[in-house]
Amino acid sequence: MPFSVEFNPPRDAPAEARLWRAVRQFERMHPAFVSMTYGAGGSTRDRTVRVTGALAQETTLLPVAHLTAVEHSVAELRSLVGSYADSGIRNILVLRGDPPGDPLGAWQRHPDGVEYAEELVRIVRDLGDFHVGVASFPQGHHRSPDLDSDTAFLAAKLRAGAEYSITQMFFDVEHYLRLRDRVQKFDPIEGAKPIIPELMPITSLRTVARAEELCGRTLPPAVLARLHKAAGDAPDGNPAAVREAGIEIATEMAQRLIDEGAPCLHFITLNFAKATTEVLTNLGYGVTAAPISA
Ligand SMILES: Cc1cc2nc3c(=O)[nH]c(=O)nc-3n(C[C@H](O)[C@H](O)[C@H](O)COP(=O)(O)OP(=O)(O)OC[C@H]3O[C@@H](n4cnc5c(N)ncnc54)[C@H](O)[C@@H]3O)c2cc1C
Repeated sequence: MPFSVEFNPPRDAPAEARLWRAVRQFERMHPAFVSMTYGAGGSTRDRTVRVTGALAQETTLLPVAHLTAVEHSVAELRSLVGSYADSGIRNILVLRGDPPGDPLGAWQRHPDGVEYAEELVRIVRDLGDFHVGVASFPQGHHRSPDLDSDTAFLAAKLRAGAEYSITQMFFDVEHYLRLRDRVQKFDPIEGAKPIIPELMPITSLRTVARAEELCGRTLPPAVLARLHKAAGDAPDGNPAAVREAGIEIATEMAQRLIDEGAPCLHFITLNFAKATTEVLTNLGYGVTAAPISA
């Protein structure tokens, strides 16, 4: 079963150095692809395009560039896709994005931009020979009125030309399996396209808060109970035991996803290689022995 990893654009030079350490560690493990998220803010955006381009030009990895519609006109979006193409990137994960500052705030369409990711899928596909993926949501997107409309919107993005979706991270494999069932039932043709599950190994109680913020959902009570049990009453919250429990949870989820025939395992790394590598090692993936930092 292939695996892939997600990176975030580095904020500054030290963060960029850390990202490259993780990139080189993963490179030895031959992921199917590596994706780079796309954030808000001009300077971060410029750095994102540059670093994603460097992944294409200076590594053996296959980069997937995330692209969001936030605060961009269609002309700017076309020009961004052109910049990616110039650096050899042919794989784009098309997203609408969230309002900057408050992801749960009201969505503001750029006056000359797009309203939904579906439109951006069409734009990117029309621009050339790009492979396009989109986002899917095991528990439904927080703005979708219900799971049926959420399924219909995902099917529409796939029909518009997306070849696969990557899910929002989740902590209950049943949610992924139900999403897969829903899409297959709603549209057997689009439902046959790969739905790649996204996992994030929990390494601390602080990561729990980060995970909840990123997926906009609270973790299932059983997962939280396991992590808090590991923390116990230790005054320092027993970070080593919490980390061990988090890696175990991610390993069990990944194993179940493999057993259920998921097409690939996509890991959020926060630009560190260690936790994902541990999960992959537990699963029996061949990992070239190499010093692992952080
Ligand atoms: C794998 C993954 C990677 C991500 N990477 C990034 C990233 O790099 N940068 C970033 O800023 N964000 C990222 N996000 C977050 C994402 O941008 C947000 O979750 C955003 O709110 C939804 O994006 P979308 O592409 O699913 O939007 P859309 O598919 O456009 O959906 C947005 C909302 O509109 C609804 N909708 C869709 N189509 C229609 C329609 N035709 N009529 C009515 N309603 C409709 C949907 O149900 C949903 O509620 C990522 C999410 C995932 C799962």
